[in-house]
Amino acid sequence: MGRIIVAIDGHSSCGKSTMAKTLARRIGYTYVDTGAMYRAVTLFAIRNGLFTADGIDTSTLAQEMENIHISFRYDAEGRQVTVLNGEDVEKDIRGMEVSGKVSPISAIDFVRARLVERQRSLGAEKGVVMDGRDIGTVVYPDAELKIFVTATDRVRAQRRLDELKAKGSDVTFSEVLKNVQERDYIDSHREISPLKQASDAIVLDNSNMSIEEQDEWLYDRFLKASGQA
Ligand code: C5P
Repeated sequence: MGRIIVAIDGHSSCGKSTMAKTLARRIGYTYVDTGAMYRAVTLFAIRNGLFTADGIDTSTLAQEMENIHISFRYDAEGRQVTVLNGEDVEKDIRGMEVSGKVSPISAIDFVRARLVERQRSLGAEKGVVMDGRDIGTVVYPDAELKIFVTATDRVRAQRRLDELKAKGSDVTFSEVLKNVQERDYIDSHREISPLKQASDAIVLDNSNMSIEEQDEWLYDRFLKASGQA
């Protein structure tokens, strides 16, 4: 079998991107972080004053969609960063402000349509590991390997808190837990492409797994799905 599509979906902050990135590097595939794309649109909306007292200014956002260009590149340390209209916005899209506003943005139909189209073109040649919420259900329903990752909300909040603290943020556990729970709720209850497990996805609950264990688990599944084991 040739190159395949690896779709990794699951809840917020459950380590999807860490495992997806490691696998992609190991097998020489392209990693696509679809959450970063929704975050970049959110940052654009914040910077352009599209969050108003009445909610999101969707008519302006709809007009602006064609002016939002998102791509990925590697920085000097070899890390993949997200680029919005030519600017490295990796740091800005990971903060609490974007995290607090990204779920309503990603529930908008035209935002999803546009980003899904882009995600499909990024995987047109296969050989991609893509992570998100709807990769195995909507973007690539025919993906050869689908993983659905989850862990308890407290474990996920603690992991996210550690990450934010390492970057110098002074948020509290309860703030992060609240954000994780809110995003779970909106992501699973929105009308379009809600977060749900594809019927043919393999579930991974990594609450009690080390990063090394989950990396090996995923590599093993990849070897089987690509006919190498
Ligand atoms: O993966 P990450 O937590 O960075 O994603 C941020 C947000 O983007 C999610 O909470 C969700 O609202 C949205 N998202 C989505 N569909 C995807 C990826 C992310 O709706 N495929």
